[in-house]
Amino acid sequence: MRIDLHTHSTRSDGTDTPADLVAKAALAVDVIALTDHDTVDGWRDAAAALPSGLTLVPGAEISCGADGRSLHMLAYLFDPAAPELTCELERLATDRVRRAHVMVTKLQELGVPISWDHVAGAAADGTIGRPHIASALVDLGVVPDVRSAFTPAWVGHGGRAYAEKYVLDPVVAVGLIRRAGGVAVLAHPLAEGHSLGDGLTEMTRRLVDAGLAGLEVDHPSHDVDDRRRLREIAAAFGLVATGSSDYHGRIKDTELGACTTEPSAFETILDLATGTSPVVG
Ligand code: AMP
Ligand code: ZN
Ligand code: FE
Ligand code: FE
Repeated sequence: MRIDLHTHSTRSDGTDTPADLVAKAALAVDVIALTDHDTVDGWRDAAAALPSGLTLVPGAEISCGADGRSLHMLAYLFDPAAPELTCELERLATDRVRRAHVMVTKLQELGVPISWDHVAGAAADGTIGRPHIASALVDLGVVPDVRSAFTPAWVGHGGRAYAEKYVLDPVVAVGLIRRAGGVAVLAHPLAEGHSLGDGLTEMTRRLVDAGLAGLEVDHPSHDVDDRRRLREIAAAFGLVATGSSDYHGRIKDTELGACTTEPSAFETILDLATGTSPVVG
């Protein structure tokens, strides 16, 4: 049983439509979670196109921040109509548009001939983010690839054309997810740009008090030492350890199923969820 609990579609910054994503996933894994940034918009298309034999876990990756760091909270199997959480997802998605406008203006002021329509076209019907701006910069020949735009010169954190977006306090996010019947797992806690360093244990303690269920341990951006440390923290707090690809399609070189979750950890997540059910194809 191969279980991949973190993927993106064109409903945020992935490059496969939800339907294409589940078609590809059926060739690589048995269970896939769709976790687009700050939206549930892809759930319906993914479920409608679900190949037989594949199980879909509806989810989202919610933008959070603490101490000036960006944190990502994975949320699984929550009620997509829960009012408080829906309201916050709407606010997060809306503020991404405002912030993308600010970044486009900064780029124009730097002399880059980028247009809002170009960036909006890259985002299409997804929650807009820096990868869409990065793609436009690739199209314009400003940078050779998406990765090269995530630097101080362009849209890397604190970079010349960077702008902050609205984010949730992670403790608040966990509470919202729990009250919507969902299960919260802290995404890639030691990935570059997201790591709290020595503060991770204390943050984990606060998140556990709020109802955190797990840590994403096996992730392409974590090395062997990261994974060992995260597994120890998860064990110390009685949290599940998950593994996932964080697949984004062609903008990142990670394949579906590159990292996977143990069936026992997945069972625990299912047991904790009351908001909605997995969709079985
Ligand atoms: P945003 O949420 O708009 O601030 O954009 C963050 C997203 O950009 C992350 O979720 C990743 O999908 C992507 N990203 C972050 N760093 C990089 C990088 N170095 N190379 C490519 N994509 C990245
Ligand atoms: Zn992303
Ligand atoms: Fe993330
Ligand atoms: Fe992600």
